[in-house]
This record gives sequence, C-alpha cells and structure tokens, in this order.
Amino acid sequence: MLSCWKITPILPLNTHKFKASKKFCCRAENSQDVTSQPKESRKRVLVVGSGWAGLGAAHHLIKQGFLILGFWYPYRNIYSLVDELGIKPFTNWMKSAQYSEDGLEVEFPVFQDSPELPTPLGPLTQTQFTRLPLVDRLSSLPLMAAVVDFDNTDSAWKKYDPITARELLRQFGCSEKLYRNVIDPLLEVRLYAPPEQISAAATLSVLYYYVVSHQKNLNLSLCRGSARERIFDPWRDLLKSKGCEFRRSRGITDFLFNEETGCITQVLGGNARLKADAVIMAVNISTLQEIIQRSSALCAREEFQKVLNLASVDALSVKLRLDRKITIPTACNVCSGFDGSSGWTFFDLKSIYEEHENDETTVLQANFYYASSLLPLTDEQITAKAMSYLSKCIKGLADAQIIDKEITRFPKSLTHFFPGSYKYSMRGSTSFPNLFMAGDWIITRHGSWSQEKSYVTGLEAANRVVDYLAEGSFAKIIPVDEDEPHIEALRNLNRNFKEFTAQVPWASYFLQ
Ligand SMILES: Cc1cc2nc3c(=O)[nH]c(=O)nc-3n(C[C@H](O)[C@H](O)[C@H](O)COP(=O)(O)OP(=O)(O)OC[C@H]3O[C@@H](n4cnc5c(N)ncnc54)[C@H](O)[C@@H]3O)c2cc1C
Repeated sequence: MLSCWKITPILPLNTHKFKASKKFCCRAENSQDVTSQPKESRKRVLVVGSGWAGLGAAHHLIKQGFLILGFWYPYRNIYSLVDELGIKPFTNWMKSAQYSEDGLEVEFPVFQDSPELPTPLGPLTQTQFTRLPLVDRLSSLPLMAAVVDFDNTDSAWKKYDPITARELLRQFGCSEKLYRNVIDPLLEVRLYAPPEQISAAATLSVLYYYVVSHQKNLNLSLCRGSARERIFDPWRDLLKSKGCEFRRSRGITDFLFNEETGCITQVLGGNARLKADAVIMAVNISTLQEIIQRSSALCAREEFQKVLNLASVDALSVKLRLDRKITIPTACNVCSGFDGSSGWTFFDLKSIYEEHENDETTVLQANFYYASSLLPLTDEQITAKAMSYLSKCIKGLADAQIIDKEITRFPKSLTHFFPGSYKYSMRGSTSFPNLFMAGDWIITRHGSWSQEKSYVTGLEAANRVVDYLAEGSFAKIIPVDEDEPHIEALRNLNRNFKEFTAQVPWASYFLQ
C-alpha cells in the first residue's frame, strides 16, 4: 500500500542567460511509514520537474514559478486539489474582454449567471460583440461540423493535425473579420502561436474544451497572487510534511537501465546517482530535448528521438506599477494585431491580487506569447512597447508614469502545437517499463488543456507507477463534462456514417 512518499527536488545549475525561474527535480520515496519501514524495502520514484505535472504526480504518490493567472471552469481537478489543500487562491468567476487594434471587440460575461443554452448558442448569443456584425458571427457555425467530427481520438488527431488552423477556418467558411479580430487572438493566447502555425487538431480540441462544449467552460477565475505563493508553496509544504524531500540538482545527465528487464535503475545528475524503482519525467519539451541530447539511454530510443522534432515557443511577461489610479474596465483581457504582433494578454492586478487591493496606484501585467522578437530587447524597449500597446486599450494610460517594472523572459517555455507535431509527441508510457511522462504536451484522451492537462497527466503518470509497482490505489481523475446530448447524437451519427463510407471501395485512396 502506498501511503507516504519522500520527494527530493533537485535544482539544476542554470546557465541560460534568459532563464529566470527555478528548476526542480523531485525524488519521491514511497513507504507506508517512511520512518518505520526498513530503508531497503522502500520504493523510490523519481519525479523530474515540479510544475503542475510533476507535483501532480508527486502529490498522489505522497498520499498514498509562476506567472499563471487564468483558471477556467473546466479545470476541475485543479479546483478539487485546492479544496483538498484547504486553500482559497482564486477570485470569483470574472468577466473577460478581447481587444483588436480597433478597440474593444468582445466582452465575455460570467456565463454562470446566464441561462444555459445548448451549445454553441450560449457563446454566440450571450457574448457581447461590440463591433462584429451578426453575419460574421454566424460564419462560425459551419465549423461545428469539424467540431463534431473531431472527437479527440487518435484517428481524429491524425486526420486534422497536418492542417493549419487558418486553413481549417478557411475551409469551413469563417469570415475574415471573425478570424482576424476574434478567433486569431483567442487561439494565439491559448496555443501560443499564430493560426497559420498551429495544428487544426489542437485548435479544435482547444475550442471545444474552452468555448464550445459547455457555455460555462468560458468562465474564468484568477489567482489572487502569484501561483507560486498561493498554490505551489502550500502544496510543497504539504508534500514535505508528509515525508517528501526536495533537493536541488545539476540537471539530469543520463539514465542507467537493466539490460534484461529494460527498466531504469538509476538517474544520473551532476555528481548524484539516484536509485529509482520508477521515474516520472515532468519537464517541458525544451528541457527534455536537452536531457535527450545528453543521455545515451534516451537518444537511442525512437520515441525520444522524435521529441527532438518538437518545438517550443518563447513568452515574456511585463509587470508595471503606474503612478496613478486608472480605471480598467475588465480585469482579464486578450489582445492581438498590434504592429502585427502575436497574441498577448493583460491583467489588472489591482482587481485580482489581494496584495494590490488597496493600492493608490495601478498595477498591470501583460503576457506576450510567440515572443522571440521581444526577448533580446532591453527592459526599457520592452516597457515602451508594452505601454504603447496598453494605451490603445486603456484610456488615460498614455499620461501615466511607470514607477516600477518587472520583466520576466520565458525562453522556449511553451509547447508549440505546430501542424504535424502529433506524430512526434509522446504518450504517458515509454519503451522503458518504469519510465513515465507527464506535462501539457503529452498525449492524453482526457480532453483538458494547459495547467489542468499537466496536472491530469501527472496524476495519470502516478497511476501508471501504482500499476507498475502493483502497490497502492489509483488517483481519482475527474473527467471533462460529457458532451451535450445533441453533440453526442451528432457524433454518433457521424461515426456511423464514417464506418459506412470506410467500406466503400477506394475509400482510402484519396488523401484525407
Ligand atoms: C507567461 C505564461 C503565462 C501562462 N498563463 C497561463 C494561464 O493563465 N492559464 C493556464 O492554464 N496556463 C498558462 N500557462 C501555461 C502553463 O504555465 C503550463 O501549461 C504549465 O505550467 C505546464 O506545467 P508543467 O508542469 O507541464 O510544466 P512546467 O510548468 O514547465 O514545469 C516543469 C518543471 O520542470 C522544472 N525543470 C525545468 N528544467 C529542469 C531540469 N533540467 N531538471 C529538473 N527540472 C527542471 C521546472 O522548473 C518546472 O518546475 C502560462 C505559461 C506562461 C509561460
């Protein structure tokens, strides 16, 4: 029975000039009672990475940095975790808005307060479009055929992944205005790249998860301070109190495995050699790519060689304190199209962070995605750009003076779901029987995205460890809400139709 785990996080030496956040490996040692059980009989699970995925995995195993603000309604596993931790890190559901270079485009209400309509009527009728004509909005309807057809199965991913999001929207008759002013920014801030460089499969999955499946999925709550302080610190404290040890490291250099069983036996990092009964890798793509290139064990395996074809995106965050109070209509905002820039978001931290609640000044945070062109700029140049963009959205901002600023660069930190990337992506299990994967880029059929997906894949990895070691009980993973009845009926009809057409001679002759 797995009831207690010892976690040892390892902070690698960091030489990249842009890297700002701390890195951890966690070693989880399991025992029924760490102190009473003989040391040699304890099972050791090494968890590499301590973000949502890594701590998620460690969290389950133990029982038995972060500028992230947005937590959407369907992040059910995360909401359940914070309840379990006994913390209240989030605001109530909040309105959000979307800006184009022309000004305010869309206001998303708190859907919880509105009557629930069959999808997609809720987002179509209850969202306030300030300038987009009805005919443009209606041009999104044909896309529902692709939404119904894309059921998050392996074959759906293989069918839609080679196409770009832009091509998909063009094929399904989306109007230029709807694309440019509404869908493009929405996708850029959820999938971190312009639609002509995003997989149509990832697009359909994201649109379904956040927008189409249920209108309340558009509801958003925000963290009332930094996620590190509000969630990760208490979470780590809890894990420590249950016997986890967090340890710094110089980064993973290689793995030793048993030739007969194929199982990883030791993980090498700096001068350390950590014995492990199972290993969970919960790092982002660029970190894994660095590890693979150093590791003779990993780079000999096809599934890890393929990871070298994957890609990551740079992000950048700007926090500004201004010398005066300025009214910002909506706390959470999505923008794009400024100087041809990619998608970005801005947040009124005075309305979100508890620590700024009574400030006499204005505190804003802007996050820029696909931000490679911004990373080499000086802090002053970045601040000037951010102020010029923000001034186009907020009245009175251009006259304000900056009294404090904090620029954080996140090189290669976000997953790039580029067209064709699915075939290189990893699943939760690997060709090493005791090495498992977790993270927001790992293939799962759960249907969630971003932080929730990372956390869920962490729990899934923990379950694979429980299964492999044949000890303990499985973590409960809350599934995404079921399809609404009419979507379920349409999907069944579509499946039957596809089964029928698959039997037609020459059905597989043409390019799908
Ligand atoms: C600016 C920004 C804003 C975002 N906003 C949101 C948002 O509002 N809502 C949302 O849902 N998502 C948001 N995201 C995405 C979200 O952060 C990710 O989906 C999530 O953090 C992924 O979690 P993870 O555990 O898979 O990976 P990570 O969070 O990347 O965690 C990986 C862990 O591995 C560690 N690590 C790295 N290198 C090593 C090494 N060599 N050895 C050991 N450990 C290492 C890292 O320190 C980290 O602890 C945002 C991301 C960025 C960059």
